[in-house]
Amino acid sequence: MDRRLSRQIVIAGGGIAGLTAALAFAQRGFDVRLFEQAARFEPFGAGLQLSPNATRLLGRLGVLQLLRPKAVEPAAVLLRDARTLKVLSRFPLGEFAERRWGAPYLTAHRADLHEALLAKASVEPAIEISTGARMTGDFTFAVQGATVTYERNGRREIAEAPLVTLADGVWSTLRERMFPTSQREFSGLLAWRATADGDSVAGRAFTAMSSVDCVTAFLDPYFHLVAYPVSGGRAFNFVAFTKGKANAEGRSAEQDSSPLAAATRHCPALSGLVAQVGEWTAWPLNTVTQHGPWIRPEGAAMIGDAAHAMTPFAAQGAAMAIEDAVALAGMVADTTTTQDLPARLRQWEQVRKARVAQVARRGALNKLAWNAAGPLAVGRDLLLRLRSPASLAADLDWLYGYDVQSGMSGSIT
Ligand SMILES: Cc1cc2nc3c(=O)[nH]c(=O)nc-3n(C[C@H](O)[C@H](O)[C@H](O)COP(=O)(O)OP(=O)(O)OC[C@H]3O[C@@H](n4cnc5c(N)ncnc54)[C@H](O)[C@@H]3O)c2cc1C
Repeated sequence: MDRRLSRQIVIAGGGIAGLTAALAFAQRGFDVRLFEQAARFEPFGAGLQLSPNATRLLGRLGVLQLLRPKAVEPAAVLLRDARTLKVLSRFPLGEFAERRWGAPYLTAHRADLHEALLAKASVEPAIEISTGARMTGDFTFAVQGATVTYERNGRREIAEAPLVTLADGVWSTLRERMFPTSQREFSGLLAWRATADGDSVAGRAFTAMSSVDCVTAFLDPYFHLVAYPVSGGRAFNFVAFTKGKANAEGRSAEQDSSPLAAATRHCPALSGLVAQVGEWTAWPLNTVTQHGPWIRPEGAAMIGDAAHAMTPFAAQGAAMAIEDAVALAGMVADTTTTQDLPARLRQWEQVRKARVAQVARRGALNKLAWNAAGPLAVGRDLLLRLRSPASLAADLDWLYGYDVQSGMSGSIT
């Protein structure tokens, strides 16, 4: 029987993907129930680069306005040789990016982005957020949608909606239950992350070695290190990538940074910076294989890192989560009957898979270029010298100029 699709949505996970989905569905007239397992939202994580394809959507959701006072709009991306600190390329951002792609390129602490999303969601009457509520993997589907179970205060309760959105991150247990063919894999790489105040020893050392209003990537065959301002410019985010083993726990942990010290030993300025920063947190980089399904046509969709965690070399994980969420809400909002939902979900999955795969390929290419050695590095440096900012920017129009709501991409100038 053809039934009207009820305007209710259940979301598992209150990270970047889940909160964005809550706002996007609420904006489209849905009533949203979001379940977050943590007893309370704590500020955690580190810096994020937020490119125009994501900030344009945050703007439409009314989140960008809340984020901007704590974010930074960097003037440029500088690529530097990690050993000599020589600038290999300067790619303008700031006004150039905003003019070209119609939205700003920002850097921010993840906690500031999360806080802005939460502040907006908390005052939205159509969104009900439950913390300390862990969704279990027990689902049933019927004509009218999904019935899910969650645990709160030691009690099991149920929620029903035509669509359940799984946004429970790279460590998703719900994926294991609902999409068992999708697997999390350790990439063999560690991300070493730290934040330092601008007036700390490390902050002053970095100020002396690069432009503080830029995103700087220091390139070397054994590692690369990316640094940029966050927290309104009062602090710097540092993230370096080396090969390594996942720690026993598997998740991020403060860890002896000797592998990072070893990787940077040929780079005097950077090995000094690594020592001055002192405490580094190691994040084993896990990815999720992308060949499995992201939807259950009967009424479930998986978004963000749960579906497609990727290595961060295109700086697009959160941006893809934001795009997934807004695209899903748009697709479902245009669906009037339960009978239409499976086809709409398949359409969403097809579009999102193609986009995410393209972004992941770009990340892999960046990694190859940034860790190039010998003749490959010489060729890279030559190419970077010969290319104008406009031609480098044209290469990124498909990524930063993309508007998930219209499906269009390109520069607007
Ligand atoms: C080193 C590094 C650098 C990065 N840099 C960038 C960058 O520059 N730009 C960028 O765009 N992205 C970047 N990313 C990626 C970005 O951080 C992630 O893609 C993004 O935060 C994923 O958001 P999410 O909401 O999918 O997952 P998460 O943020 O992990 O949120 C998942 C939420 O679900 C909750 N949860 C889990 N299980 C349950 C359950 N059963 N029931 C209820 N709740 C549950 C969790 O408690 C959590 O709150 C980077 C990542 C790394 C590791």
